[in-house]
Amino acid sequence: MKYISYLISLIMVIGCSSNHEIVTSTNINNDKQHNKTPTVVLISIDGYRHDYNEIHKPKFLTKFQKQSASLKSLIPTFPTKTFPNHLSIITGMYPMNHGIIANHFYNPKLEKYYSLKDRKSVTNPDFYTTVPLWSLAESQGMRTATYFWPGSEARIADHYPTHYMVYNHSTPHDKRLQKIKEWLRLPKSKRPHLITLYFHDVDSAGHRYGPLANETKEAINKVDKSIESLNDFIQTHDSSINIIIVSDHGMQSVKNKKVNLLAKLNNIESEFIIEGSGPLVHFYLKDKKKKRLIQTTLNKLNVHKSGYTCYLNNNTPPELNFKNNPSIGDILCIADKETYLVSGPNMTPKGAHGWSQHEGKDMHGILFAQGPCFKKAIEHESKENIHLYPTLAKILKLEIKHRIDGDYKHLKDIVSKDCL
Ligand code: AMP
Ligand code: ZN
Ligand code: ZN
Repeated sequence: MKYISYLISLIMVIGCSSNHEIVTSTNINNDKQHNKTPTVVLISIDGYRHDYNEIHKPKFLTKFQKQSASLKSLIPTFPTKTFPNHLSIITGMYPMNHGIIANHFYNPKLEKYYSLKDRKSVTNPDFYTTVPLWSLAESQGMRTATYFWPGSEARIADHYPTHYMVYNHSTPHDKRLQKIKEWLRLPKSKRPHLITLYFHDVDSAGHRYGPLANETKEAINKVDKSIESLNDFIQTHDSSINIIIVSDHGMQSVKNKKVNLLAKLNNIESEFIIEGSGPLVHFYLKDKKKKRLIQTTLNKLNVHKSGYTCYLNNNTPPELNFKNNPSIGDILCIADKETYLVSGPNMTPKGAHGWSQHEGKDMHGILFAQGPCFKKAIEHESKENIHLYPTLAKILKLEIKHRIDGDYKHLKDIVSKDCL
């Protein structure tokens, strides 16, 4: 049955023009009831730490933040990595509930690996276990478009975005902006009400050079200029469009303390699949009949531990909301923020993320929102990113009929009453 629906979904991908835009439906009209519904452009700047505006002082984003409804920081979910958090933002769920528990992981139920580098897995709906905002919108007759967003290339909950782009890391910014403008110029009957846009540059520079480096400042300035030019277009074209700028997580300088977990264990790779490095490492038992190996290995890992703790899958710290999902290892080792876990003599980056969002604020991101649906020039306390989904659903007048982890009440104070 799943296979048949997958085939149908492939057949549904009916249009493919240059620049790798996929148009997934012959009907690109919004249902009439959405005539007056607002439009939201959701922009993600990967790895933009909550305090980058103060540190690097980009011209446009600094001004934009001041005029916006903003949060002191946007608190990511655990692990504070790109795919888990983009999915949390767009589904309102913790990773253990939306299914994408890491950028790379093994799903023992599906007997398959997931990796952001593997198109076959990112486009496989079986890995995603809840309803992204674009699927919610499409199921209620509203058109959506994504210029990159993790998960946007899979047919999840029976829907693709009406328009989506095949991920290409090197697509220049002006090409990205051109397409967003093209979508915004569509007649209102066809214009997508939710449009996403994604920039990787700041995250890439943060890893390579560290969060405080000049190269990171340059990457920020590049993204700053691109968003400024899009904002200029929007203000002259249609100032009723709402712009929300978010980031998925922050970034910290990698500390000197490196711990090689495998040095403690003999021949562990024959018994366990090992995934991850840096802030966390998963161990998946290969032969489920050898269950007792889980406890004995856990004990060995935790003997004389320093800078990390290993847990059973169902026994991780409750504040992480990260347990009981079969894609999480039978054993999960979590490093504290001073420690980088390695499984050999591999190179470590200058900057990294993935550590607990509750150890200081370096893992926190941003939320700046502007437009008729948001209050002006106010800053609120930090909030978790899972609350954005119900907030956007409210603004887009979409009904959520399934259970989610987020709650609109946490962000209602940044929303303008005129919009509801
Ligand atoms: P990380 O810093 O390891 O959590 O992941 C950041 C990387 O994710 C970026 O450098 C991008 O190359 C990659 N990435 C972001 N969005 C997508 C996407 N939609 N498809 C594939 N890769 C992506
Ligand atoms: Zn990221
Ligand atoms: Zn990153």
